Amino acid sequence: MDFFSKSFIPTTKETPKGAEAKSHILSVRAGMLFTPSAGIYSYLPLGYKVLRRIENIIRERMNLAGAQEIFMSALQPLEIWQVTGRDQTLADVMIKFKDRRGRNLCLGPTHEEMITEIAKKYVSSYKQLPFTLYQIQTKFRDELRPRHGLMRGCEFMMKDAYSFDADQDGLDKSYDIMFNAYNDIFSECGLDFISTSADSGAMGGSVSHEFMVCAEIGEDVMFRCLDCNSYLRQPGTCSSCGAKLEECRMIEVGHVFKLGTKYSSLQGAVFLDAKGVQQTLIMGCYGIGVSRLVSAIIETNCDDSGIIWPKSVAPYAATVVVLDDSLIPQATALALELKKYGLDVLIDDRKESAGRKFNDALLIGNPYTLVFGKSFKNSEKIELEDRRTKEKMSLSQEELLNFLKKSYNV
Ligand code: ATP
Ligand code: MG
Repeated sequence: MDFFSKSFIPTTKETPKGAEAKSHILSVRAGMLFTPSAGIYSYLPLGYKVLRRIENIIRERMNLAGAQEIFMSALQPLEIWQVTGRDQTLADVMIKFKDRRGRNLCLGPTHEEMITEIAKKYVSSYKQLPFTLYQIQTKFRDELRPRHGLMRGCEFMMKDAYSFDADQDGLDKSYDIMFNAYNDIFSECGLDFISTSADSGAMGGSVSHEFMVCAEIGEDVMFRCLDCNSYLRQPGTCSSCGAKLEECRMIEVGHVFKLGTKYSSLQGAVFLDAKGVQQTLIMGCYGIGVSRLVSAIIETNCDDSGIIWPKSVAPYAATVVVLDDSLIPQATALALELKKYGLDVLIDDRKESAGRKFNDALLIGNPYTLVFGKSFKNSEKIELEDRRTKEKMSLSQEELLNFLKKSYNV
């Protein structure tokens, strides 16, 4: 439970300069982010709460899938990139410098080389395989056109996982496990998404899939069949029903690859198989744009008044708008009761106009607004408004508790 009057939530009516995307405008207006320069963001309390909720959904699903969490350094010696040649192919996006001792370093745009070094050092036998490691960590890329807020940053949060197997069958299994975990993660985040087989680009390898969310600000183009709701890479007619395809823009939120031996062979990450024969480790890599997910969720869950958070990632279960100072104790008592069920609320106890409070509740976009005002004074009823459906109800404290417990499944 937090009190708005004591919270650092700098909401504003002003549209940030140069912002075009709804998600960018709303995340800044809701006081989630601070932008000192394009592509560079600091998360304020509300933004960080949402980011951590998304991270935790991912963490839980990764752990369930048997992956183990690690945390690699963002600072990387350039030498490991020289081995794979990606110091050249990724030269444009890589942020490089020499330290005072003269070492050539970079801030990791990704971590395939680093994880392969780890496997090279510690894996020697098939008995140690298979395993999947993951991290949730900051990546640095000198993007040419950082834009749309967290959509494309020069410093952003990624979940990257890496699987190591003894053979191709093993990789197929590891890949399927991650693929299924991704479906669960994006569903749980409240996203309408598709998965599609993709070009593996700079990562190399053969098989890869991208997870995409349809939105105007997306940078990838696909073609959608409105009749059977399928998405294709090429324009023309639908391969299933023959209907005409419509162009649509997609946001890439995740990407999974079967790397095979691309990195392990170049870096010499090998092991001995059951017959004592030396083999090269077979790898997969699996990325999610954690901070980009914040944008993708807002972009597809908002209206003219503000954000409409899915319950799973909302900063708070509800905003409690208190219209009369004398009702703060009752609002606090309700919040404490809700806390017993793990439901955290934001109590708007500020000395602001009712209009400002309602507008901020809509802007911040918690799933419910609960109002302590006239009808509480007259008949102890709390007004509840559903942020998504706009449905309103007038409920006693007990009815409200039951409603929220049911709604949040707690
Ligand atoms: P893009 O094509 O959008 O530049 P990418 O294919 O280079 O992305 P990957 O290396 O596959 O990105 O990274 C894994 C995930 O990280 C992507 O699916 C995307 O969701 C996210 N991501 C990549 N670049 C950025 C960025 N600059 N800002 C925010 N998220 C990003
Ligand atoms: Mg990609």
